[in-house]
Amino acid sequence: RIGLKVGVDIAGGVLVVTLTDIRDLKGRETLFRSLFDDNPVPMFVRSQSTGNFLNVNEAALRLYGYSRSDFLDRSLAEIRVDGTTIRESDGREMVLRHRTADGRELDVIEYTSETLVDHQVAILSTIVDITERKRAEAHITYLAHHDPLTGLANRTVFTCELERAVVSLKQDGRRFGVVLIDLDNFKTVNDTLGHAAGDALLIEVTARLKELVRKTDVVARLGGDEFAILVPAVECRSDVEELGQRVIRDLTAIRKVDGAEIVIGASIGAAMIPDDAADIDSLLKCADLALYRAKQSDKGTFRWFEAGMDMRQRERRALEIELRGAEIDREFELHYQPIIRTQTGKLRGFEALLRWHNPRRGMVSPADFIPIAEETGKLDELGRWALAVACREAATWPRELVLSVNVSPVQFRKGDLVGTVGLALAGSGLEPHQLEIEITESVLLSASSTNLAILKQLRSLGVRIALDDFRTGYSSLSYLRQFPFNRLKIDRSFVREIGRCPESLAIVRAVIGLGASLGIDTTAEGVETVAQLEALRAEKCGELQGFLFSPPVASESVAAIIGTYFEEASRLA
Ligand code: C2E
Ligand code: CA
Ligand code: CA
Repeated sequence: RIGLKVGVDIAGGVLVVTLTDIRDLKGRETLFRSLFDDNPVPMFVRSQSTGNFLNVNEAALRLYGYSRSDFLDRSLAEIRVDGTTIRESDGREMVLRHRTADGRELDVIEYTSETLVDHQVAILSTIVDITERKRAEAHITYLAHHDPLTGLANRTVFTCELERAVVSLKQDGRRFGVVLIDLDNFKTVNDTLGHAAGDALLIEVTARLKELVRKTDVVARLGGDEFAILVPAVECRSDVEELGQRVIRDLTAIRKVDGAEIVIGASIGAAMIPDDAADIDSLLKCADLALYRAKQSDKGTFRWFEAGMDMRQRERRALEIELRGAEIDREFELHYQPIIRTQTGKLRGFEALLRWHNPRRGMVSPADFIPIAEETGKLDELGRWALAVACREAATWPRELVLSVNVSPVQFRKGDLVGTVGLALAGSGLEPHQLEIEITESVLLSASSTNLAILKQLRSLGVRIALDDFRTGYSSLSYLRQFPFNRLKIDRSFVREIGRCPESLAIVRAVIGLGASLGIDTTAEGVETVAQLEALRAEKCGELQGFLFSPPVASESVAAIIGTYFEEASRLA
C-alpha cells in the first residue's frame, strides 16, 4: 500500500500531473521538523525568489532576539550588515556580519543549501556564531602588535610600517624620517612615585604624541620610556625637526602625574632615508646614535644623525685615548673660513675652526673629536688654546675684520670662560669688538641662569655673541628673548635645502625677518651654490659663509684672502 497525492499543474500550456508518495513525504517532514525545530544550531529558511523568511528555528530566534512572527516578517537583507562579506568560499559558506534585534553585530558563518518548501526552491541557512572566537583572535593579533599599556604600535608593527615606507620610496621617491624619543627623568618618576605613576605618565605621553602627529605618521612604543614616530613622505627636513621640537616642548610641559609634581623632558634623535641611510636597519642605527648624542649633550635636545656619529665604540675609545695624550701645540691647528658681507661683497672676517692632525690617522674632523673632547674634559685646555691662538692671529688682520670663535657649553660649565677670553684679548691686543663668540642654544638650556650671567659678563667686556646653528624650534625663539644676541647663524641644513624644498626658503626668510625685527644680524652658513647665494641676497641675509667663497684655510693662506678682498674693494672704489 502506498499513499498517493495527485497534483495537477499547468506549466507552459502543458498539463503536468505529479504523483507523490505521501507516506514518504510525511516521514521526511517529521524528520525535517525534528532536525530543524529542535536543532541547537540556529537555522532559517528563506524563499530563493523573494528572500523572505519562510521558517526559523528556536535557536535562531534566541541568537537574533526576535519573536517568531517578528523574524518571519523580515527578509535576509534586514539582518545582514551591508558590505561585510568577509570570506566567500564556493558560495556555500560565507563569513559575514548579521545584526540582532537589539542592534548588536555578530560575526557568523552561514552555510546554505537548497531545499523545497511548498514546491518552491528555498534556501536553508545554518548559522555558526563566531563573534567570540573572532574577538579572541583579534585580541590576540592586537596584543601581538600593540603595546598593552598605551595601545601604541609595538616594534614589530613599527618595522612593518618602515618596510612599507621603503616600498613607497621606491615607487614614488618619497623620502621618510624616523624620530626616536627618549624621556628624560622617567626613571626618577618611576622610582620616587611608583610604577602606577610611571604608567600614568607613559599614557599621558602617548596622548600628547598622538595629538602632535599627522594621520599618516605612525607612533610606536619601542619599550620602556622609548617612543618612535615614523614620518612618511617628508618634503622638508625641517618638518621632521619641527615635529621633534614640538614633541620636546609638549612633553616638557607635563608637570603633574597622578596629582604629584614632576619634571620630565625628552631627548630626540632623527634620521632619514635616503639622506642618512639606505635600509631600515641602518636608519634605526643612525637615529639611535643621534639619540645617544642628544642625551649626552644636554637634556631636551633634538639631534639629526651626522656622519661621524657611527664611529664604532672601540674606535671612539681609541680616539679618546689618543686625544687625551695629544700635545695640543704640535697636533692642533686652526683654520679660518672667510665670512662675506652680502650687499657689498666685502670681507667681514673669519671663523676659526679647529683641525687635528693625528700622527697615526691623519686629519680628524672636529665633528668627530669635539664631542669626545667635551666628554673627557680635554676641551677645556683645547678651548683656551684656540681662543688664545685665534686672537693672536686676528690681531695681525686689518682692524675692521671680525674673528669668530666657537665655544662649547662645556667651557661655560668648567673653567673661567670670562677670564680666558679676557686673557686672550689682553695677550693679543685684539679689540674686544673684533671678537665674536659663537655658542649653540644648548648653552642656554643647561644651568641657564649661570650661563646667562657669563654671557652678560662677556658682553660687558665688549665681545659680541652669536647664536650658532640656529634652527626654528620653539626653544630657539625663546632664547632670543632671553639674551640680546648680536648675530644669528642660520644652520647649514636650511641653506642646503634652498631650491630643494620651498619651505626652507620660507624658514630662512622668517629667521632673517625675525633677526631684522630684533636688530640682530644674520649669517647663512654652508653657501655652496650661486642659486643659494642669489636667494639669500634676495632675502637680505646680512652675511654669507660657505665653500662657494672659500673652505676654511690654514693661517698661511689667510693673508692672501684678505689681500684679494681688499684689492677688489680698492679697485671698485
Ligand atoms: P660650525 O661651527 O657650524 O662650523 C661650520 C662648519 O661648516 C665647519 O665644519 C665648516 O668647515 C663647515 N662648512 C663651511 N662651509 C661649508 C659649506 O659650504 N658646505 C659644507 N658642507 N660645510 C661647510 P668643521 O670645520 O668640520 O667644524 C665642525 C664643527 O666642529 C663646527 O661646526 C663646530 O661646531 C665644531 N668646532 C670647530 N672648531 C671648534 C672650536 O674651536 N671649538 C668648538 N667648541 N667647536 C669647534
Ligand atoms: Ca660656528
Ligand atoms: Ca654652525
